[in-house]
Amino acid sequence: MTPPPHLPAAQPDPTDSAPGVGTAFDTVPALDGELRFDQAALDAASTDFGHLVSRPPAAVLSPGSAQDVATMVRYCRERGLKVAGRGQGHSTNGQAQVPSGLVIDLGSLDSIEIRDDTAIVQTGARWSTLVQASLPMGLTPPAFTDYLELSVGGTLSAGGLGGQIGRHGTQVDNVLELQVVTGEGELTTCSPTERPDLFRAVLGGLGQCGIITRATLSLVPAPRSVRHYVMFFGSVAALTAQQAKLIEDGRFDYLVGQALPTPDGWTYMIEAAAYDGAAADDARLTGDLEHTSIEAQDVPYFDFLNRLAPAVEAFESMGEWKRPHPWYDSLLPASTVNAVVTETLSGLKAGALGVSAVVLLYPVPTAQCRTPLPVMPDEDLVYLFSLLKTASPGADSAEEMVAANRSQYDATVAAGGRWYPIGSVPLTRNDWVHHFGPFWAELEAARHRYDPDGVLTPGQRIF
Ligand SMILES: Cc1cc2nc3c(=O)[nH]c(=O)nc-3n(C[C@H](O)[C@H](O)[C@H](O)COP(=O)(O)OP(=O)(O)OC[C@H]3O[C@@H](n4cnc5c(N)ncnc54)[C@H](O)[C@@H]3O)c2cc1C
Repeated sequence: MTPPPHLPAAQPDPTDSAPGVGTAFDTVPALDGELRFDQAALDAASTDFGHLVSRPPAAVLSPGSAQDVATMVRYCRERGLKVAGRGQGHSTNGQAQVPSGLVIDLGSLDSIEIRDDTAIVQTGARWSTLVQASLPMGLTPPAFTDYLELSVGGTLSAGGLGGQIGRHGTQVDNVLELQVVTGEGELTTCSPTERPDLFRAVLGGLGQCGIITRATLSLVPAPRSVRHYVMFFGSVAALTAQQAKLIEDGRFDYLVGQALPTPDGWTYMIEAAAYDGAAADDARLTGDLEHTSIEAQDVPYFDFLNRLAPAVEAFESMGEWKRPHPWYDSLLPASTVNAVVTETLSGLKAGALGVSAVVLLYPVPTAQCRTPLPVMPDEDLVYLFSLLKTASPGADSAEEMVAANRSQYDATVAAGGRWYPIGSVPLTRNDWVHHFGPFWAELEAARHRYDPDGVLTPGQRIF
């Protein structure tokens, strides 16, 4: 695929092996869906939101059923071919790519059934579609990512962190049951009580032990309206202190934050929200907060969840959405967050982030994160600190940004932090072992049990 003129060509990775392709897909059994070899399908599966690496697969499956996924995983396993599921391709470093293997584009598996207070969802569905299906029943998933156009399977494979984390944990904390195709090509179900080892290894497990084809998710009553507050603070310490207090007393239903560049340095923002009926309570909710300014408005619930959409549209029209995105995401313990964030932000040179960059900084109470993955630092309160970079024209190159991510990773680890593994950081196997920490042995055992031939999701480069 020829990149648009403003993009550096995404580089094929010379270390990728190319196991027996050629006639590898000649004897495929009958499928409910379609196996595609056309250039459009191969091009789409060989890129992602990061535009940093490009590894073309040999074929793309558009499954017509979960059984198709199982059939093709078995087929590939027998022939030494690698396989990965792909949701919306919003990874930033080739995590859903499979050089010369099979990408399973789960977008064709997107059915949604709302039953009582649960949603039974095929994992190619997007969160935006799911919430639009549940809202007419007065229900909503409790936890969201900032951006709703990610697939259910994609975020359940990563973790799914967002502003509801203080109330409801991550997206993986709100899963009741999964249907999974293992690396042996077995179609099975798992839950906290049925094959719990598989359940624990697949949720937040970066596709290493199974491809999730269906998820049963808990739903909660949906608010009709949201009181949305935006408040500014003068320092990192002021921001994190207020966020810690708000997490502790739980007065808001939603809480995130950002560092924003200004001509005079950085300013710090909290976005907080209170659901239904909070309008009369402005004084109670914000009267004691030491902000420098505040805005508040009432918005319908879906518009609140989807409030990133206009910014995405603007980034698309600027061309920024299609540029390389060497993202860095980390989780820092409360004890070191102020020092790391202050040092990082003060050390950033012009051009280090790109014009449409976003710097996230918000609290995560680890007691709410009940699944073993994603891995959290070992403190009661930690902070998500993300440098969401774009290699804009005139900014640092994508390669320079990736190299800076590696230095940031080392600083994160030295400060007792972990990375949130959705971004673009070159990691060694030892880094991964350290990253998973006490869970590494369990994950490795699950990998041997459920994907003994190492078929699944090579783009994560873990095993
Ligand atoms: C604009 C934007 C905003 C974001 N906001 C947030 C946020 O607020 N919070 C947050 O936590 N994350 C956020 N992310 C990160 C995002 O959650 C992850 O990158 C997620 O994996 C992307 O979902 P996807 O459907 O695009 O997955 P893909 O990029 O298609 O796949 C991601 C990985 O998961 C694997 N995978 C995909 N589907 C399955 C499946 N069904 N079973 C097993 N493995 C699978 C793939 O093989 C790949 O390794 C954001 C990303 C972007 C680009």
